[in-house]
Amino acid sequence: METLDELLRQAEAAHGHLCAGQILGVRMALLALSRLGIADPRGADRKRLITYVEIDRCATDAIALVTGCRLGKRALKFRDWGKMAATFVDLANGRAVRIVALEDSRELAARLYPHLDSKSAQQMAAYRGLPDSQLFREQCVRVEINPTDLPGASKKERIVCERCSEGVNFGRIEEVNGQRLCISCAHPELCYWRPVEPQD
Ligand SMILES: [Zn+2]
Ligand SMILES: [Zn+2]
Repeated sequence: METLDELLRQAEAAHGHLCAGQILGVRMALLALSRLGIADPRGADRKRLITYVEIDRCATDAIALVTGCRLGKRALKFRDWGKMAATFVDLANGRAVRIVALEDSRELAARLYPHLDSKSAQQMAAYRGLPDSQLFREQCVRVEINPTDLPGASKKERIVCERCSEGVNFGRIEEVNGQRLCISCAHPELCYWRPVEPQD
């Protein structure tokens, strides 16, 4: 595994800037990988890991970078819970660890590095220097992963929604009154977009 500094350089390049979130995300992912015994997540072990992230902030980019888990590989799952937390699942044996950034690490940063002039500088110093036990809470967990959510899941039975005629992969289809419908037709309340009337 690359060193923290090397990973931070890569995270900075991928994310666009170095920030407290990059450091926290890299540390969180490194801790998880060491707990799961995964040494080469972007190489030899690249098919072993699925990561669930619970926030869409800076740290999420760093977690994706270190683990190699990406949305487009179906190895990164997003739960929009607003929590600085992530769960790392080793598909080889079902072991999983959920790691949460501790709430008081910000105060701790201010107390330990009062000479640094910004909150961000204080946090970056703390997230670099503090031991894992002062930054994170970790828990062994089990995650039931639906076979259709796995990276290797077959998408070949592509189904066309009987209402909107759009094609749907991975079995994301529901039967309503005998019709096979996509998620947004079956549950209009879940649809995040509305059509706009053409203006002329
Ligand atoms: Zn950032
Ligand atoms: Zn539809």
